[in-house]
Amino acid sequence: MTDLTGTTPLGAGLHVAGAQVLTPAMLDYLRRVRVRLTFDLVVTSGQRTATAQARAWAVKIAGHLARGEDPRKALHDLYRRDDLVDEVMDGDTTEAGIAQTIAAQVARGDLLSSHLSGTALDLRIRGLDEGQITGLVAACVAEGGRCVREAVPPHLHVELGASDRRTVARTVTGMR
Ligand SMILES: [Zn+2]
Repeated sequence: MTDLTGTTPLGAGLHVAGAQVLTPAMLDYLRRVRVRLTFDLVVTSGQRTATAQARAWAVKIAGHLARGEDPRKALHDLYRRDDLVDEVMDGDTTEAGIAQTIAAQVARGDLLSSHLSGTALDLRIRGLDEGQITGLVAACVAEGGRCVREAVPPHLHVELGASDRRTVARTVTGMR
């Protein structure tokens, strides 16, 4: 079963962990995915500001270091833009420093993560068994998404399909 620890219900079997910015297109997409499944969904990340992206990266970098792994290599493996990853890792790698570098990248139109453009969201996989995770990926793909199962921290990253890349209005949900 989905682990609902620390979440707020959004209705219709959807929940959010913490305060996340979810676009109407994200909510439409999540509802379509949810009706294909027998378990609830927890969104752990939606659209991100540079500050929120930096927080996510600080967690990821610390997680890789704790596992004795090279965070730069892990980030290169995960992101398409090695140049933007290097710019972050060559700069001040405190959370505040990362936020500054990412904000400068966003200002010039270089988006290293689709979370920054509001076209990606993360789903919790904690509490799900392997069969449920396989079903979740299949449902996300069937509704037009593209999935990457990430290990540090464990979650499913979902990039929305072309028809769901509408980011005009924004909705902030969940607890602060
Ligand atoms: Zn993600």
